[in-house]
Amino acid sequence: MEKRKLVDVNAPNRSTGIVNGQSSNILNWDDVRFPFAFPKYKKMLANFWVPFEVNMGQDIKQFPQLTKDEQESFLKIIGLLALLDSIQSDYAMKAADYITDSSINALMIILAQQEVVHNHSYSYVLSSVVNKAKQDEVFDYWRTEPLLLERNEFVTDGYKDFAENPTVANFLKSIVYDVILEGLFFYSGFAFFYNLARNRKMVSTSTMINFINRDEELHVDLFIKIFKAVLDENPEHNTPELADFIRDTFVRAAELEIAWGNDVVGDKFDGVSKAELDAYIKFMANKRCKQLGFDKPFEGYNENPMRWIIAYQEVDLGKTDFFEQKSRQYTKASDANGFDDL
Ligand code: ZN
Ligand code: ZN
Repeated sequence: MEKRKLVDVNAPNRSTGIVNGQSSNILNWDDVRFPFAFPKYKKMLANFWVPFEVNMGQDIKQFPQLTKDEQESFLKIIGLLALLDSIQSDYAMKAADYITDSSINALMIILAQQEVVHNHSYSYVLSSVVNKAKQDEVFDYWRTEPLLLERNEFVTDGYKDFAENPTVANFLKSIVYDVILEGLFFYSGFAFFYNLARNRKMVSTSTMINFINRDEELHVDLFIKIFKAVLDENPEHNTPELADFIRDTFVRAAELEIAWGNDVVGDKFDGVSKAELDAYIKFMANKRCKQLGFDKPFEGYNENPMRWIIAYQEVDLGKTDFFEQKSRQYTKASDANGFDDL
């Protein structure tokens, strides 16, 4: 693939292709190729939040009162999220170099900025609840915890082919890994934090997790739109091999996420079971494949088995926390007919 030029005096402002296209690289939001770009820009800006607006007072008091298992999982999950969001800021910018459309590049810049904020939130949470030595240890879990190492390699290996050999085929595959990173590998961790919030524990941290979750949903949707636009403009890449790749990669990713989920959640906590979490992960894998426009890899699993999580995941908190939005939250939770089903 050709990298986007800094400026191209002979090309139009409205690009001629999402990859390998012509583009002056001038951004005029009223003259862009993809109709989804401007609404997405507005939504991403509307999500703006900063960690230090969230008061950690209550969480600081509660953390020492959590059980040992709760504390351990809390820290391990933050360690994982810190890794994923760090990789993600960088991947987004590397991918953006090959997008020959100034408006999609602009969205990638905002996406990367949001990942930086996510990383800030993990430092902010850790510096609130543990000492600096422990915080440093947590930020090294990605290389000291075997399960994290395995997941890390799975995603980075997936990105490497594209980084070393940026063809359209490798770009499409890297987006599949991206959708796994942003759309599946966060989700056991999210479930853990929402279950804490449900038990009125660590509500400020979980509120930030909700903000991150909300951002990630927009990111997954953006990458899926890019994926579909690339396929649309390069239909020769829409092959049975690609469908097989997507199925196999999601099956492996779900296995890794289930192993991780068993480790950090399993049957250790009230309100969430190993069986439920396994089914939830398979449901999420099915959901992402369907969003990409491909077959669901797991038969059945068409329904979110953790109905309660919908209220925590999908509620738009604005600048408030879960319990200021209680009435709305419960309205949403009971609105289960067909909601979040495939
Ligand atoms: Zn993120
Ligand atoms: Zn993201």
